[in-house]
Amino acid sequence: MEKKYATGEESIHMKNEICIEFDAISENEGLARIVIAAFVSRLDPTVEQVDDVKTAVSEAVTNAIIHGYEEKGGKVVMKACLSTEKELSVDVIDKGVGIIDIEQAMQPLFTTAAENERSGMGFSFMEAFMDRVEVESVLGEGTCVHMWKSFAARQEQEKPLLQAAVWNQNER
Ligand code: ATP
Ligand code: MG
Repeated sequence: MEKKYATGEESIHMKNEICIEFDAISENEGLARIVIAAFVSRLDPTVEQVDDVKTAVSEAVTNAIIHGYEEKGGKVVMKACLSTEKELSVDVIDKGVGIIDIEQAMQPLFTTAAENERSGMGFSFMEAFMDRVEVESVLGEGTCVHMWKSFAARQEQEKPLLQAAVWNQNER
């Protein structure tokens, strides 16, 4: 039977938003990765695009858990929105300790947790894998990491790998 790939053009008619709240425990990093991957799958992304978004979300969630809440627990909120122009925005929000100097925190290799073998590359990865990253933080109130990535400029020759993989799985 002939397979039909749903192109982004066909499938994106409306804005779509999700919001999930979860406990600030490391087990939930994997949950956040799966949720964001599933959410962007309707855009017919490449595996690389999905991996980029999963990595960026994972870094932000890890930061909320280990820096924001200092591993003492709390709630992390992840909001994601897909626009009709195929732009993804993701916010990762904690109500933890906040960041003293955001500009410094975002410098490559800057970390306040070197003793815990942190390398200070989390924000750099977020910036490398997403189109834009902005951080808002208030000491004692918490932090919001906003990230954006466009899925509009897709190369013609690229195959819709994720969707193809899902179909193959369904056929088994
Ligand atoms: P790595 O991500 O490489 O394991 P890291 O987490 O220290 O190391 P970044 O993710 O770049 O590196 O973060 C830099 C610094 O910013 C952290 O060491 C921490 O001091 C601060 N920071 C980041 N996110 C938060 C947050 N949600 N709340 C409070 N401080 C944060
Ligand atoms: Mg980090």
